[in-house]
Amino acid sequence: MEDSRLAVERHDWAALAEPYRIKVTERIRLPDRAEREALLAAADYLSIRIDAADVFIDLTTDSGTGAMSDNQWAALLRGDESYFGSRSYLRFEAVSREVTGYPHIIPTHQGRAAEKILTELLVRPGDIVLGNTHFDTTRGHILHRQGVPVDCVGDLVWDFSTPGDFKGNFDLKKLELALERHHTRVPFILITVVNNMACSAPVSMENIRGVKKLADQYGVMVLFDACRVAENAYFIQQREPEFADAAISDIVLEMFSYGDGCWVSAKKDANVNIGGFFALRDEVLATRAKELLVLHEGYPTYGGLAGRDLEAMAVGLHEAMDQEYLAHRIRQTAYLGKRIAEADVTVSMPTGGSGVFIDAASIYPHLSAEQLPAVAFAADMYLEGGIRIGGSLFTLKTIDVESGEIVERPFALSRLAIPRRTYTQGHLEYVANVVAEVKRKAPGNKGYRITYLPETMGHFFIRFAPLG
Ligand SMILES: *Cc1c(COP(=O)(O)O)cnc(C)c1O
Repeated sequence: MEDSRLAVERHDWAALAEPYRIKVTERIRLPDRAEREALLAAADYLSIRIDAADVFIDLTTDSGTGAMSDNQWAALLRGDESYFGSRSYLRFEAVSREVTGYPHIIPTHQGRAAEKILTELLVRPGDIVLGNTHFDTTRGHILHRQGVPVDCVGDLVWDFSTPGDFKGNFDLKKLELALERHHTRVPFILITVVNNMACSAPVSMENIRGVKKLADQYGVMVLFDACRVAENAYFIQQREPEFADAAISDIVLEMFSYGDGCWVSAKKDANVNIGGFFALRDEVLATRAKELLVLHEGYPTYGGLAGRDLEAMAVGLHEAMDQEYLAHRIRQTAYLGKRIAEADVTVSMPTGGSGVFIDAASIYPHLSAEQLPAVAFAADMYLEGGIRIGGSLFTLKTIDVESGEIVERPFALSRLAIPRRTYTQGHLEYVANVVAEVKRKAPGNKGYRITYLPETMGHFFIRFAPLG
């Protein structure tokens, strides 16, 4: 492994070659311009409402949208669909134990099902959950339990142009201030790797050790939201000299060694279309979780999944740790980020794991925030190239390092998420060229306004109309 890894890393261009070849293809189609205009208008200018068949390249999310390998497809046939104690569960349990180092392995149909169960067990009204940056479903589950999610990510994350090796890190000063004041109300500290809502930036091992030290000082449990733990481990290997020669699986094990458990959406690094799990060190907590699991998901040896799904997850978890695969994936993202930055668009640098994050305001400097530049960008990407992208605008609670108070700060981003093993270099070239075209024509865009704002789940059901 050592030799091939060095060979791949030596040249910038080498890792851009996909370390797989294509066995099955899926036709995609670019509707013509007039069609795209009609479809976007009918979708009230929110491209997630457009039928997938009318999208040429879909960069809305990297969740469950990856291509499974031949080995994963083959594993599906081994699925043991026994309700109790299936062989598929045992295989999945063995792999998950090996990867996480935690003894208690509980499958769920998605990551959020694990979040629901763990927040139900651990979060009481008024509790404060301290994270680097909580993912939106995590945030939602904590709020649903009347808890307060507080994000202790470093302020550098708001600055897209200043590079930093580990912009997903906790600001340990913020964490310490929060623990000092609130530790009796903190049920656990949550480390999200990579830090998805913070431009998928990685977290360093040094930072994880720092979090663990503070957690021990205050007797608080540490959990990981570990959907993209392999991508994070790759960044640790590449950027923290101590780990330059370490295998990805060993880095992952060390990361988890500083925690009491984790939850995983297997739709990310483990590259399945559906699935998730959580893993815990503590037997009592695991027993209570399994009781709730029966209520929400099913018996603990299938947890809302078919036996075949467990098989695909087990294979996917191993494949996620593959050095050449990770080198390619991260290089692919970096390449797209570089090409887009060359079009004079502000990209969060360096690029992280799941995709390229963009400040849409840099494309439309003539639009005010009220004229919704991120909405304009998403609309233009579809109109210009049939490309669907994601984005979010959210307000997070963080710690002001001067006063130690919890303060609110908005965070806006557009995301070109890259599904795993799905799009080729040719597709990425196309996407970069479309972004450049959008940027060139941007001065003609007059912005957008909101025509309908629902009370809940705004970003899924909101409607827009063009201004002017
Ligand atoms: C996707 C995701 C989740 C939720 O997982 P689902 O499988 O979509 O329910 C939680 N946390 C992070 C960081 C995620 O990216």
